[in-house]
Parts: sequence; structure tokens; C-alpha cells
Amino acid sequence: MAKRIVVLGAGISGIGAAVLAKQKGFDVFVSDKGIIKDDNKAVLLNNEIEWEEGKHTYKQILNANEVIKSPGIPDTVDIIQQLAVKNIPIISEVEFAFRYTRAKIAAVTGSNGKTTTTLLLGHVLKSAGLDVLVAGNVGFGFALSIAERDYDYIVLELSSFQLDGIQNFRSDVAILLNITTDHLDRYDYKLENYAASKFRITKNQTEQDVLIYNSDDALIKVLNTKAKKLPISLKSEQTEGGFYNNNEIIINLNNKTMTMQELALQGKHNIFNSMAAAMAARVFEVKDTVIRQAMIDFQNVEHRLEYVLTVHGIDFVNDSKATNVNACWYALESMTKDVVWIVGGVDKGNDYTELASMVDEKVKAIICLGENNENIIDAFRGKVDTIVQASNMQEAVSQSYALARKEDVVLLSPACASFDLFANYEDRGFQFKKEVRNL
Ligand code: ADP
Repeated sequence: MAKRIVVLGAGISGIGAAVLAKQKGFDVFVSDKGIIKDDNKAVLLNNEIEWEEGKHTYKQILNANEVIKSPGIPDTVDIIQQLAVKNIPIISEVEFAFRYTRAKIAAVTGSNGKTTTTLLLGHVLKSAGLDVLVAGNVGFGFALSIAERDYDYIVLELSSFQLDGIQNFRSDVAILLNITTDHLDRYDYKLENYAASKFRITKNQTEQDVLIYNSDDALIKVLNTKAKKLPISLKSEQTEGGFYNNNEIIINLNNKTMTMQELALQGKHNIFNSMAAAMAARVFEVKDTVIRQAMIDFQNVEHRLEYVLTVHGIDFVNDSKATNVNACWYALESMTKDVVWIVGGVDKGNDYTELASMVDEKVKAIICLGENNENIIDAFRGKVDTIVQASNMQEAVSQSYALARKEDVVLLSPACASFDLFANYEDRGFQFKKEVRNL
């Protein structure tokens, strides 16, 4: 009898895992406690995969040989606890898809910058004419893509939740960008638990593999690994690694030096992301000229410090993806004009004092856009002349337009999740752009 695989959660990763499992001859069952999107149902139907929605039928699940769990389902829910009691292995889609690829893999993780760095590295490798899949949290699902065909190179964006579900997954190149407080609610509010999840990116690496890591980050610096360590830094010179000096990125690898000056992406954080991607491309032996050109012609990713429009001399910038304080710090850091700052949303326990000096230096007015703005108002009262509140995006944009003067910039960089007033961060960014265009 075919081995039974149960997939919990029918989002893009779950659907992909189910299709791949079916194709490999397993007996597959998909269960989702919520409602499954029509498009995803159609895929299940086309592939003759059994499914249920709105419930978990225990007897259909607890008879699995292996379970593939969506990273969105916490370990504390009852069905997961029951599976653990029965010692049924629970893995992630990433672990499952990894079994069916022979590609060279670069895996990117960190609290901020994953998507940007993943897309940037994918762009560099594609520019070199290589056969590349970009997957994980971005783009097409990993398993779904592998079900279609294998690739020579795969660049994967991995969240800490996805890393929690790996066993044997190994990448030739791992990139660990930074670790700052985020998602601590899923890690018993302990930074060390969250960091341990991120460190899993290197746990199965061997001496043949490399780990590109942020050596400016005190938590990451001490990380143990079998892989060859390639530090990247904005602060200190690296003889084997990457660093930034005099407006130039310098990559030293295997006794060869490569330099880069011109980058498509602005801001200190993007120097860092570019350095990581360039280093990984060098490890994969992409030519310097190709790397340099790809760094120049990369198209910025939507909702990440995205320039929208200039209206009467006022620039509007959409950084809706800045859902934590650290991302917001870098957005403010990169601003060269006086800022009218739209901030707020669902606060995951933010410490705004980290932003105090940046706000003091750059921000002339604050518009709070959330259901609960007390934390922000308390943090900046008396420090910024004008603090107002808005209850929707239309109001926020028209207030920002009234407060800004020629040569100022209006920056949407919320430092918070979006689920109070918006469907998600994309919705928040789209609404911002729409209202700016309506001015
Ligand atoms: P992720 O996929 O990790 O959420 P993104 O590339 O989508 O990262 O960027 C999320 C937010 O973080 C954006 O506001 C972006 O401007 C900011 N950001 C990007 N790279 C970094 C970095 N290396 N350090 C801090 N913030 C960053």
C-alpha cells in the first residue's frame, strides 16, 4: 500500500506539497481548518487529491505515515499535539520538496531583507544565463515548481517557521542576514528561541558548503557551523568576506577581489542585501561583470521603499512591508529630506525608543494610522511638533499632503502589521499608492 501523506493547510505551500506527493505516488489527503480558495480547490480536483475544509477529521489524519504542515499552523494546536503523541513525523513543504531536487541551493533567511535578497540573487544568476528557480515565500511555491520540473539552481526564501519544519534540508549556500525582534509571540517571547530557528539554516551544512552571515550582528557572530564562514559587514574589513568602504562594496573570496559601486537599491540595508547576493553569486562563480550589471539593472520590489510619485515637489514613498521597528529604522535612515511619516497598525510589542534619534533627526510630522496609536503617541509626544491620527488611508494621505512642504518626503513605513485596517501589507501599500495618485 502506498505511504499516506497528510497535508495540513491548503495554502500555496500545502497545495504544492500535495501535488508533488501525488505525483510521486503517495496516498495524499489535504485538510484545512479554514476555507480553501477556489483556485486551490481546482488544483486539488485536477490532480485527483482528496481534501476537506472547515475541519480536521482526526481519523483521516492520525493514520498518516508523514505529515506536511503549513508553517502558519502553530505547534500548540490540538491536532499537532496528537500527531506528536503518536510520533508521526511532521515536516515542512521545504523539507519534502528538497528530497526531489538535485539543484544547487542558496537559502536566504533573516528578520528583514529576505525577499529583496532572494530576488536580487535570483536576478544575478538569471542574468548569468543559469537555469534558476526563485521560490519559498516569494513567487511560485517550491514543491509546486519541482513537481513541474527540476532546475540547476534554486534560490529559496525561508522564514523561521519554515526552518522549524526541516530535518535534512541542506543548502550549498546559506545566507543569514540579521536577527531582530519579530514574531516573538510564536517563540515564547524569547529571542534565543527565534534565533535558534534561524540558525537551523546551517544545521545540515557540510565543509563543502558556505554560510554568508552578518558579522555586525552580535547574535549571529557567535554561530557555530561546519560550513565555510563568509562574513559580510558594513563596519569592518574582511580578508575573506565582504565589506563596505568609501562607497564601495569589496568582496574578497579565494584570493580574488571584486568591487562594486553602483547599486539599483538605495539605503544601508540594501548595501547589505546587495553584498550578500553578490557574495553568493561569486561562490557560484558568476563573472564579476555580470554581477555588477545585474546589481544596476535590478528592479526594486514593490512595497519596499518603493518610490511612488512626486506631487508639487513632495515625494511619496511606499514602504508598507516595513512591519517591524528595524525595517522602519533603515527606511528612515535612507531618507535625505524632511519626513512626514505615516506609521502604525497592529503593534507586536514594539519598542519605539530604538527609533528616537532617527525620528529626532529626520521626522517633522507623524500620522498615526492604526486602531490603537497610544504607544506611538507616548513614544514621540513632545519630540515631534505635529502628531495626528487617521482612521483610513485616504485620510492619512490627505493629512500628509497638507503637512508636507515642497522638498519633503511622505514615507509610509508602518513598523506594524496591517491586519487592523487592511487585508495585508500589499493591500495597505496599494491603497497608499491609489490615494497618492488621486491627490
Ligand atoms: P522580508 O522578506 O525579510 O520581510 P523584505 O525584503 O520584504 O524582507 O523587506 C522588508 C522590509 O525590511 C522593507 O521595509 C525593507 O525596506 C526592509 N529591509 C530590507 N532589507 C533589510 C535589511 N537587510 N535590514 C533591515 N531592513 C531591511
